[in-house]
Amino acid sequence: MISVILCAAGSGTRAGLPENKILSELNGLPVLCYSLSAFAPYADEMLVTCREQDEPRILPLLSPYPQAHTVRGGATRAASVFAALGEVKGDIVLVHDAARPFVTSKLIERVIESVKKYGSGVCVLPVTDTMLLGTDGYIGSQISRDTCFAAQTPQGFFTKDLYAAYREAKQFFALDAYTDDSGIYASYIGPCRMCMGDAANRKLTYPEDFRPAERVGFGTDTHAFGSLREGAVISLCGVKIPAPAPLLAHSDGDVAVHALMDALLSAIGERDIGHRFPDSDPAYAGADSMQLLAQVMKTVNGVGFSVKNAAISIVCELPRLAPHIGAMQERIRDALGCESVGIAAGTNEKLGYVGEGKGITAFATVLLAARRA
Ligand code: MG
Repeated sequence: MISVILCAAGSGTRAGLPENKILSELNGLPVLCYSLSAFAPYADEMLVTCREQDEPRILPLLSPYPQAHTVRGGATRAASVFAALGEVKGDIVLVHDAARPFVTSKLIERVIESVKKYGSGVCVLPVTDTMLLGTDGYIGSQISRDTCFAAQTPQGFFTKDLYAAYREAKQFFALDAYTDDSGIYASYIGPCRMCMGDAANRKLTYPEDFRPAERVGFGTDTHAFGSLREGAVISLCGVKIPAPAPLLAHSDGDVAVHALMDALLSAIGERDIGHRFPDSDPAYAGADSMQLLAQVMKTVNGVGFSVKNAAISIVCELPRLAPHIGAMQERIRDALGCESVGIAAGTNEKLGYVGEGKGITAFATVLLAARRA
């Protein structure tokens, strides 16, 4: 029988949250729900350590899982796990930080197998940074990186062994010296068997960890051609291109950049450019759309996102855009601060208003990535 202890008795202090971080929403779902659903298929019993004040909010989240119940947590992680171990019924126990919502079934299975085979199983990752010992602001010495690992959870053990280790540590008033179960087990029982962890199985700690990591945006725009005029020039993606006629617009009529700005604004949940740069405002008469784009980018960066990639598609019969694609890409890359910019140009096969040469339509999608503050 397998029991799972989910550590959920923390506060939101380090995450800068007003509440326990496992109750904060991640993509619309409280963080705790992710671990509950990941472990449910394996657990005969799930014990959720929680603070008294969080219980009214945690209990409803457990209702889909008849095998789950709460255990009143202590002042530290170790005290909470110790309290839960006193109630565990399974012969195998897995301990997991509920603030690691991205745990996978692969990791859980790996830990269970390791406990059955070796008596313990602890998810670890090899460290990639140089490891140093330091005191008082100075580096003492380097530690060989090959001997260093970062411990994750889940960590699994035979319940009787882990409980014995905890009781010993408690007896020596040493419980609070440990930040995880592998340390307590190693001190009082023996070496823990390592299992390969997963970099994605990270612990949510800082405010930005709770923001959606990526956002997608979409925009479209159309401008009509005015009357034929020799020597006419239009702006597309900030590049001046000779055309049979100018585009009718309040600004410079850069239909591709307008679609792109709408994509950026939609990705961060802002209103469109018509709302932001109204054409009733004389300030935007003949405006350089690339300058407006720079303003939009300031907003996007200001709310903590950068552009991961952008794709623009421009549809018109004339002018021929193929010779200008490289220059357009260059300008948009610079404006977005992003290497991956795709620009496609095509005709509408003589169909509809675009096919009749009456105007140009552009579409744009962007993918934004959250930046660390
Ligand atoms: Mg427009």
